[in-house]
Amino acid sequence: MIAANNPALQSWIDVPSDNDFPIQNIPFGIAKIGRGQPRVATIIGDTVIDLSVLSELGYFKALDIDTSVFYLSRLNEFMGLGKATTRAVRDRISKIFQHDNPELQDNIDHKAQALHDVNDVQMLMPVEVRDYTDFYSSREHATNVGTMFRDPDNALLPNWLHLPVGYHGRASSIVVSGTPIHRPKGQKKPKDAEKPSFGASNLLDFELEMGFIVGKSTQLGERVSTSEADDYIFGLVLFNDWSARDIQAWEYVPLGPFLGKSFASSVSPWVVTLDALDHFRISGPKQDPPVLPYLEYEGNKRFDIALEVLIQPEGGTPHCVCKSNYKYMYWNAAQQLAHHTVNGCNLNIGDMCASGTISGTTPDSFGSMLELSWRGTKPIAMPDGSERKFINDGDTVIMRGFGEKNGLRIGFGEVTGKILSAIE
Ligand code: MN
Repeated sequence: MIAANNPALQSWIDVPSDNDFPIQNIPFGIAKIGRGQPRVATIIGDTVIDLSVLSELGYFKALDIDTSVFYLSRLNEFMGLGKATTRAVRDRISKIFQHDNPELQDNIDHKAQALHDVNDVQMLMPVEVRDYTDFYSSREHATNVGTMFRDPDNALLPNWLHLPVGYHGRASSIVVSGTPIHRPKGQKKPKDAEKPSFGASNLLDFELEMGFIVGKSTQLGERVSTSEADDYIFGLVLFNDWSARDIQAWEYVPLGPFLGKSFASSVSPWVVTLDALDHFRISGPKQDPPVLPYLEYEGNKRFDIALEVLIQPEGGTPHCVCKSNYKYMYWNAAQQLAHHTVNGCNLNIGDMCASGTISGTTPDSFGSMLELSWRGTKPIAMPDGSERKFINDGDTVIMRGFGEKNGLRIGFGEVTGKILSAIE
């Protein structure tokens, strides 16, 4: 077991039992504290820890690393130190905060400099996203969409069981949790309309996804095998892949998603390392037909991470509309990465790969309004008496996720985004 993952560890920082960030998590993010510059940080309980200050005070001296990475406004350079080093940093943080370690615990001056209440901190984009790829890897989601738009008897297209279908998305519009999103405008052509028209999307949707962040680059021509993939995946975030269904439906033939997707995606601010998620690994589904050799894999490559989506109307209370799980993936992240690089396409540190909408087997576990309201035919009742087929102006969409096992909870916090009216 990775030492920092030991469920028996306790911190001298108080962590409530339903908190996502016990000492066994130690995620990484970019925090802006007061009027200071953005810095690399971690969090235990509700306490944000400025790693640049800890480094300045000498707490990482024994690691012999380039500590300039802690003063940057993105994790790219930190991730680029390599897993052996980032793992050593996580281990060291774990040691500093264990309940029986007095070195920082008993230093009031150092604590005042390095520790901050989460409410006093603004979280920024954790990484500079280089390229963004979106997969389509939940069998339940692909089956639902195929059933709705094509043919229930042939819901999956012929390639779906043979390769992890994906497309290249837009990196520039990936934003951190809390960033408001204007309803996009675009071309739409309702079924009964003769001609397309231009205007605000009427069918604005979320997609419940998880994103993994690449922490190691490859050279052009190089492939990453499924057994090497974990070394390239630094960690995961919650990912809301906002989608305008009416724009998407009209534009997507034959080259796939474009403006119906590229207006925004939102991510949670704390990157939970693959190491921290080790407890929650589970085996995959039987893949039938058998996959080609480059997609075969060994070991537990899926993760049991409970996910939920809530909609909060303007001035109202959040209402849960979906409970799903990251385990509902037919294609795992290692297979996605092996497929991504099998043609020799190179990876960059900071690449973001999203899972695709994660839908479970029951109607309350579907990961988009498109499926939850079954194309608008089954509206969702809200506590304030209103209904939702898709997302309204003023609605905030909240996604949360955590793994829980043997009394240990490792979570992601949340990703939120409020929809504002379209810009005139
Ligand atoms: Mn998507």
